[in-house]
Amino acid sequence: MTIKEAARIIREGGVVAFPTETVYGLGANALDAEAVKKVYELKGRPATSPLIVHVDSIEMAQQVVSEWPSLASRLAERWWPGPLSFVLPKQPSVPDIVTAGLPTVGVRMPNHPLGLELIREAGVPIAAPSANKFTGLSPTTAEHVRAAFGDAVPVLDGGPCQVGIESTVISIADGGLLLLRPGMIHFPDLERVAATTGAAHPAPGMHHRHYSPRTPLLVVSGPAELPDDSGAYVWHTQSADCERVYQLPLDPDQYAARLYATLHDLDGAGLPWIALEDLPATAKWDAIRDRISRAKA
Ligand code: AMP
Ligand code: MG
Repeated sequence: MTIKEAARIIREGGVVAFPTETVYGLGANALDAEAVKKVYELKGRPATSPLIVHVDSIEMAQQVVSEWPSLASRLAERWWPGPLSFVLPKQPSVPDIVTAGLPTVGVRMPNHPLGLELIREAGVPIAAPSANKFTGLSPTTAEHVRAAFGDAVPVLDGGPCQVGIESTVISIADGGLLLLRPGMIHFPDLERVAATTGAAHPAPGMHHRHYSPRTPLLVVSGPAELPDDSGAYVWHTQSADCERVYQLPLDPDQYAARLYATLHDLDGAGLPWIALEDLPATAKWDAIRDRISRAKA
């Protein structure tokens, strides 16, 4: 499928899967409630889980939010396009279905040439969750999307995603920041730019079980904790004798970029378990530990 064809489908109220640097998105015109409804139906996503609206520019972001604080400008200047979503008060033109009825909307400018080109060509903001069935593993290749949806969803193939896990989500209010979901843009770096931090309030749409493979997932401190040798062991410091072993790099950016593809592969092998060697308890690994703890819940 070409970008022009994908953009036409979006403009006509259809759904397409498209690449971003985080994961593949299942996109629809964010200003068309009927189109967005199809996204929820295809995914089996509960209506209580808001979508992120993808834009090609700060100008387009300002069309979906009703407030654009100077802090948003400072953060966007440094990190957009990139894996950072802002939650801000929404414009009335954004349908309730996009925000799960919340008065706020999540917005981000993705850092992928095809994704950006698609939004530009469609000329409308694109609401998109990850292109997988609800609670399933997020897709980091076009093949992952096809495996989940078959012919039901056309896919714009942009190769493997470079970041590999979902964006950092922050709410910006009263000049302060609140982390709603960790990601590969680390909160302390955002706080340094903000210099102030808001008080905590609960984050909607954070389902505990999420990002899950079908195979039971364990986290172990090392080979000694493996139940037996019949499963798959994903390690970074110490290998083991197992049916399948898989080494991931001990670098958070590289680890994130390969995590879901590794889990997709191992999930397809029909093994009794997948065990991950646990990760350093440092801030740079927070987003990855968040996804793993939800995948095993
Ligand atoms: P995803 O499941 O990757 O599409 O990301 C959607 C996530 O963005 C949700 O699970 C929320 O954590 C966050 N999000 C999106 N919109 C909002 C909003 N209006 N308020 C709070 N969180 C939001
Ligand atoms: Mg998702």
